[in-house]
Amino acid sequence: MTHVALVGPEIEENLSLRYIASSLAARGHTSDIVAFNGPTDFGPAIARIMETNPAVVGISLAFQWRASDFFAFAVALREAGFRGHVTAGGHFGTFAAREILTDFPEFDSICVQEAEETFATLTDHVGTGRALEGIAGLWLRDAGGTAYSTGHPALPDLATLPWPDRRGEPAACFGHGIAPLVSSRGCYAKCSFCCIAAWHEQSLPGKRYRLRDVDDVAAEMVEMQRTRGIDIFVFHDDNFFVPGHRKNIDRFNALADALERRGIGDFATVVKARPTDVTPAVFEVLKKRLRAIRCYIGIETDADQGLSTLQRWAQSKQNHRAIEVARSLDLYACFNMLLFDPDTTVESIETNLAFMRFAPEFPSNFGRVELYAGTPLLARMAAEGRCRGDYLSWDYTLGDARAERVFQLSMRCFDERNFGVDALANRIMGTRFDIEVFRHFHPDLFRQEWAEEGKALSRAMTLSGADSLERIVRFVKDGGSASAEEALVAEETTKLRAAEDAVRGNARDLARTLLATVKRGKPLTWIGDRVATPLQKAREVA
Ligand code: SF4
Repeated sequence: MTHVALVGPEIEENLSLRYIASSLAARGHTSDIVAFNGPTDFGPAIARIMETNPAVVGISLAFQWRASDFFAFAVALREAGFRGHVTAGGHFGTFAAREILTDFPEFDSICVQEAEETFATLTDHVGTGRALEGIAGLWLRDAGGTAYSTGHPALPDLATLPWPDRRGEPAACFGHGIAPLVSSRGCYAKCSFCCIAAWHEQSLPGKRYRLRDVDDVAAEMVEMQRTRGIDIFVFHDDNFFVPGHRKNIDRFNALADALERRGIGDFATVVKARPTDVTPAVFEVLKKRLRAIRCYIGIETDADQGLSTLQRWAQSKQNHRAIEVARSLDLYACFNMLLFDPDTTVESIETNLAFMRFAPEFPSNFGRVELYAGTPLLARMAAEGRCRGDYLSWDYTLGDARAERVFQLSMRCFDERNFGVDALANRIMGTRFDIEVFRHFHPDLFRQEWAEEGKALSRAMTLSGADSLERIVRFVKDGGSASAEEALVAEETTKLRAAEDAVRGNARDLARTLLATVKRGKPLTWIGDRVATPLQKAREVA
């Protein structure tokens, strides 16, 4: 038996760490899950590892934007005197394995791809002092210190993979337990900016996506409800949907049947969809039988230019249909707009602003497409000589000078609203979630006016944002001078913060009213949205 520390973000249950923890347990090893969500966790996490002295530390490098934090963590761990094996994995770790082992002697290895089997075998070998060279799925250093790969690992069989470790108290909304899970891995699409698509592409030839048996998924859900009080199941599948509307209807019905057969109590689900997946028939099943209370719809862009640059395999009419379907079913949906990409023009921005105005009652957020490791978009930008920085954080300038100026000005105005866990754009999604949880689980106490209030909050956010963006676009189109920029930013910032103050106050009042009525647990409005990953932005590159 060997003891392992698994370090990573745990804002919600981190499934990548927890799948590894259960695979380690199946081999007789023990593990600690050490949360590192932000600066305040840094010292305590180091102290905990030094105290428990594991033989192996595994660091989750899923998010490129947090990689530097975790590299600093590995450095601090070594400085504190840790002498065990340090490995890392995840999407970013996989794509940047060579660079990491070249630049950071603190790491002994990198586990690439889906690493349950690789990590467990590595732990077997470290625990018994055996060499690691024969384990597929690793990056190591040779005698001369040069990084090399031991080859692509066999992907785990989802039918036999142990369910993720569920230690600890689950998150909850008004006392209803929330847990993430996956019913599949991979995505059938191939968007140019997406590290998920690039990651699964590495495994080709083979399936772009693999599905779990619905009966196994149902068994995991019922077990979680009975043992942990989970009522809200957040599906974090790369893509919850398969290509083919009929197939989705059949799969969702089969999952609902399996849940009923197993006697699940009242429950709700949260899913993500591509706009192309959204049809009235599919979403009726999703809402009625799988009891979806929230769906993230990956709109990303409504401009033909953006849809082409991002290789979305979707059309504007499908974006509009997706919103209309959600609206007609009164299903809470939310989306992000990648308003800025390398080819964005002012006209594309205007098209996307029109889309935001078309769907104002659905919470949305916007930002720039970042260049993630392993993606076709990064490769394209590198080939065009347009990347600045290094593998830790690539930066770029939009090709269209006017669009770049809109981007720079808008980021100065919207930074506080759009980015980070505490950004109001994220908090409002929590408020909307509170309303839906209340409506679903306590219909007898629910008042329809709260749903309308929630929509009004989102509308106020969207429209104040769109108004401000439009004024910025007009300033740029009119050739506003550089010396006038400060005044513009100051004016827009004042207007935006005023709108946000009003929305924040109303959201808190609404959450208080909901809580006073339901009299159980806490609303997500207070504790932050724990069921959505906040929009990310790249760190500034000097
Ligand atoms: S649909 Fe989503 S998960 Fe699939 S490739 Fe596109 S961005 Fe990635």
